[in-house]
Parts: sequence; structure tokens; C-alpha cells
Amino acid sequence: MTFKEEIQRRRTFGIISHPDAGKTTLTEKLLLFGGAIQEAGAVKSNKIKKGATSDFMEIERQRGISVATSVLAFEYDGIKINILDTPGHKDFAEDTFRTLTAVDSVIVVIDVAKGVEEQTEKLVEVCRMRNIPMIVFINKMDREGKDAFDLLDEIEQKLGLKVVPLSFPIGMGYDFKGIYNIWEKNINLFSGDSRRNIEETIKISDLNAPELNKLIGDKAAKTLREEIELVDGIYPEFDKQAYLDGHLQPVFFGSALNNFGVRELLDCFIEIAPKPRPKQSEERLVKPEEDKFTGFVFKIHANMDPNHRDRLAFIKIVSGTFERNKPYLHVRHGKKLKFSSPNAFFAEKKEIVDISYPGDIVGLHDTGNFKIGDTLTEGEAINYKGIPSFSPEHFRYINNADPLKSKQLFKGIDQLMDEGVAQLFTLELNGRKVIGTVGALQYEVIQYRLEHEYGAKCTYENLNVYKACWVDPKNSNTDEYKEFTRVKQRYLAKDKQNQLVFLADSAFSLQMTQQTYPNLKFHFTSEF
Ligand code: GDP
Repeated sequence: MTFKEEIQRRRTFGIISHPDAGKTTLTEKLLLFGGAIQEAGAVKSNKIKKGATSDFMEIERQRGISVATSVLAFEYDGIKINILDTPGHKDFAEDTFRTLTAVDSVIVVIDVAKGVEEQTEKLVEVCRMRNIPMIVFINKMDREGKDAFDLLDEIEQKLGLKVVPLSFPIGMGYDFKGIYNIWEKNINLFSGDSRRNIEETIKISDLNAPELNKLIGDKAAKTLREEIELVDGIYPEFDKQAYLDGHLQPVFFGSALNNFGVRELLDCFIEIAPKPRPKQSEERLVKPEEDKFTGFVFKIHANMDPNHRDRLAFIKIVSGTFERNKPYLHVRHGKKLKFSSPNAFFAEKKEIVDISYPGDIVGLHDTGNFKIGDTLTEGEAINYKGIPSFSPEHFRYINNADPLKSKQLFKGIDQLMDEGVAQLFTLELNGRKVIGTVGALQYEVIQYRLEHEYGAKCTYENLNVYKACWVDPKNSNTDEYKEFTRVKQRYLAKDKQNQLVFLADSAFSLQMTQQTYPNLKFHFTSEF
């Protein structure tokens, strides 16, 4: 196969959903179609269960699972599919945001009964901002849920999407009879037996044909005809380019648990979903077809095995081929590195690979060279952008609880921050260190890992911060800026990149500050 053909046949995507909508179940069914796993139950949920906060072993176990499910690759119909795992738990939302920089498209799973939920809204918003192509899968049609049209409305309104159904349910819950596939113009009847469902599609070229009545009964046939007429009337025709540009989102209905409607989703996905897309670097747009390798780190995972302290850095290949034992430039450090055992990930194993292509993810063993967002190239000094940090929601001072281990503590904090576990701020006034996280769970993870991986002990102290705002250095030589840094010194800190951050203690004080210093610019993400 040529280099171009290898690129053409790759699809790298993420499945996003609110916890419990059915992401794990859907992933598993997709892997079954690819023959990547043999039986149900093989894919472990990466969910952090309730109560895990106080159970460190549970957190460790969950972290283990999240390495195992970081990337799941399989082949289907000659297409190489890479599914990137995205934690649904809100405390790990940052991890998901970063993973979204490495996908070329996403599938959004929505529970038919619950509709659009909080995490779905947040994650879809990030995808929308980046114009990532999205397909929506409405799951659990075997249960009573919301009316299909109402749900489509809700998706448009709450998620700001423009939907076009490519399949439509025939009844739901107890009366669920099957799915009319608008895309392929056929019907798939539901029998509640997942093994049979896969094969049983019936071609229906004309919805008005009397066979339809025989198949699903007069009443359901009449309803379906009316509903499809409505669909035709309300929704635009599917336009692949609009989907690829992120302006139109096709919708499928089904039941992941019953493996129903999943093949339809997958067949459409491999046909329309984008192959690896070009990526913007600070210097220029890089195309996958370029022959020189470039890639970036979007995730770093500590090794769970305490005897092997190295970490695994996950690289998305943007252009060219990544080859084993070839020296590549670590742009931030300006030095060349060679990797003797790059890992590729499959459904149930990881393997050392000699060559990987754009769209693929490789895992590189790392002893502390990498941090999230780093770029690797064949020699060109380019930097991929687009992994901003958002303002954390929780802030705590971190204190050293064992004076003899301060070196270990600082090293540990440093490395955990490079992994993107949390954000570190150093106060201007007294040099105290503050850790900001998205969820309270991270503090426990950090404390546990500092102790077990670095032999350091820490305690926390609450700090009242409403929001971290990055201060634009643009006006730094004006009197206004100097006055601001003098008056607000108590609230100022530096982040890990040495950028100045204003830790506002309330919405009111932030507003007042903005009014008092109208020429200063405050940003709510670290990249501006
Ligand atoms: P995740 O948190 O999004 O990964 O959700 P899971 O895949 O773990 O599913 C959450 C729960 O919903 C599990 O108990 C599944 O068995 C169940 N579930 C998933 N898909 C369906 C479905 O199509 N129908 C029904 N009735 N239950 C489902």
C-alpha cells in the first residue's frame, strides 16, 4: 500500500458523552464488528465510580484501565479505525479536551430518555469551536424515552447543532420495532436478540410499498410514512462537505446494548468521516501527505508499574511516517531523540511497531522529556498549537509535609503538571505554590501519586479563588499595568510558562478590576 493510501484509509475519532449514555457499550460493539474482540464485556469502562474519591486503590485501578483504553485500534472493511478514549467524568474533563485536539471527528452518544446532559454540552461546545465533524448517536431506543422530533429539537437548541437524521426509529421502548435507515433506504427489524439483528436488513426502495405494512403492521407503517415525510420537510438534505466543515451533524438512532443500529452507524461513519486532517502549527499549516514526519503529544500517562517509573507519551502523527529508531527533533528542547520501542495500540494489546502513519497514535516511553503539547519533527522547528489550559475550578495551596523530601516533592509536582494532571501557580508575593484543578478528585490523585511515585508527602490548604485570568503582557510598560501589578500583587501568580495570572477572588472583584484597568486585557484560557 502506498503512503497516500495508508492516509486515505485512516479514521481517528473520539466518542463523547455524559457518563452512562452508553459510550463503553458502543465502543465495544464497534470493536466486535471489527473482529478486534470476540465477546461482550471485553472493553472496560474507564468510569470513575461514585465513592472512588476516598479509595486510592480504586483510583489506581481506574488509571490502569484508562491506559489500556487510551487508544483502541481496529480494521473494518479495509479501514484502519483509531478510537481515542475520552473520560466522561467531569473531574477529568481537561484530559478529554486535550484528547479532542488529536481526533479528526467525533461521535456524540445521547441517552434517548435523558436527552442532552451537562457533560455532553461542554464537550460538544469544544468540538463546535474547533469545527470538528460530529455524528450523533441516540442510544437506548429499546427503552421509553423522548419523542424523536423533540429530542432532535433539543439537540439543535442546547448543543447549537444543525442536525439531519440519517436513520429514524420505528416506535420506541416496549413498542420499538426497528429502524428505517434513511441513508441506505432499508429497514432493520428489532428482535431483541443482538446476534440476529446484525444480518436482518430489508431493502425498502419505496416507503409506500404494501410490504411495509406486512413487516411492521398498518399503524406503525402509517406513522413511519408520516414521520419520514416530516423529516424530509423539516431537515436539510445531507451534505457531506457541510458535515466535514462542522456545519451539519447527521443523527443515527439505535441501541448499543442490543447491537442495534450500530452497523448502520459504522458503515456511514467509514464512508463520510474525515481521513486525517491538516493541522495548524504556529508557523504554518501542515498536511498529512507531507513526507516529513511531524506529531505532537496530547496525553502523558505515568506507568502504573512502580518498578518502571517511566511514562508513556501519546503522540498523534500529523504528517509523514514515524519510524522506530530514527532520530526526531524535540522542538522545545532543541535536541534529537530516538525511540527504540514505540507502541501501537490495539483493542486488547499494545505492540512495538516499526512504522506508523498520519492519524495513528504511538506511545513513547519517556523519562521526563515530554510535556503536553510538545512537538516532534524530522528537523523543522515548528510548534503545534491548540492545547490551551482553562481556568481551574478549585484552588489549594500545596504544602510540604516532610521537610527532608522537598526535592522529591518539587520533582513530583513538576512532572505531574507536565502530564496535565493539574495546573501550578506560584504566588508573586511569597512564592507559595497553588494547585488548580477541574475537580476535587485530582487532589487525592496528586497526593497519592506524590507519595507512591516520588516518596513525598503533601498537605493542602484551601484558597478562595473565583477564576484564574491570564493577563495579556501587551501593555506591560504602561502606568496602568504597573499600577495594576502593584495594587493587586496579593492576587498575582505565575503559571508554569511564566505567564502572569490574576487570581480573582470573586466575580465582583474581577468585574471591578476590569473597570478600574480598562486597557488591560484578561484572558480565560492560557492561549491567546
Ligand atoms: P458510559 O458511561 O457512557 O460508558 O456508559 P456504558 O456503556 O457503561 O452504559 C451505561 C449503562 O447503560 C450500562 O448499564 C449499559 O448496559 C446500559 N446501556 C448501554 N446501551 C444501552 C441500550 O442500548 N439500551 C439499554 N437499555 N441500556 C443500555
